[in-house]
Amino acid sequence: MSIEIRDLSKHYGTTRAIDGVSLILDDSVQVLALIGPSGGGKSTFLRLLGGLEIPTSGLIRIDNTELPKSEKGIMDFRRRNGFLFQSFNLFPHLTALENIVLPLVEVHHRTRDAAIARAHEVVERFGMSAHLGKMPAELSGGQQQRIALARAMAHEPALLLLDEPTSALDPEMKAEVLEVIAELCQAGQRIVLSTHEMGFARGTADEVVFLANGRLVESGKGESLFKTPQTEVVRSFLGKVMKW
Ligand code: ADP
Ligand code: MG
Repeated sequence: MSIEIRDLSKHYGTTRAIDGVSLILDDSVQVLALIGPSGGGKSTFLRLLGGLEIPTSGLIRIDNTELPKSEKGIMDFRRRNGFLFQSFNLFPHLTALENIVLPLVEVHHRTRDAAIARAHEVVERFGMSAHLGKMPAELSGGQQQRIALARAMAHEPALLLLDEPTSALDPEMKAEVLEVIAELCQAGQRIVLSTHEMGFARGTADEVVFLANGRLVESGKGESLFKTPQTEVVRSFLGKVMKW
């Protein structure tokens, strides 16, 4: 996806969650990873890219089209994307199947039969077919997150935005969720993800962006950013998180 971001800011009161970020990425970037310390602005940046928030100032162009700034325009843009957050946001009172079917019918105007067929197709890919009739509370964290991921991409999103998708999971479950995300990357899905899984970011992302204090500190190909960080901030962060 080509991305052009110019002097982007998002302020909440006096907090500068994103503070003058510029970034140009060409079409060769299919997977973009956001890394950096907590509170650095990863979630806000991801929400701006996906159209969940309107910038305080600056502009975002994706594939040469500027993101709309009106509520109505941004709603239409947002609907084309898919989102997955850290903690499983499944509807607790609906089965796994209904969690996937409901937005397909209500938001994306698929017929119920088409939505059910699509849910089965996606869930099979994620190894979750046997669990479609279960309620979220009957599923493990990793299974819930795979259902949430199936829901996020069932409508074939233009852009899939994943905000720390494995942070709330035990190591084993992390691995099973990362595996399906890696499979989506392989299959050509365009993804922007924020993560603390440095090995995963390095291995799957075409481009890595390091954010701290709302600012873009460094960006580059995973290999070079992880191997030869250019700034002390990134060096020190990587030194700490990759120590163990
Ligand atoms: P990260 O995802 O890297 O941890 P965030 O984007 O969540 O960072 O947060 C960046 C900064 O913006 C933090 O100081 C956070 O407290 C603040 N922030 C984020 N969202 C909001 C909000 N809705 N209202 C007020 N402050 C916010
Ligand atoms: Mg965050």
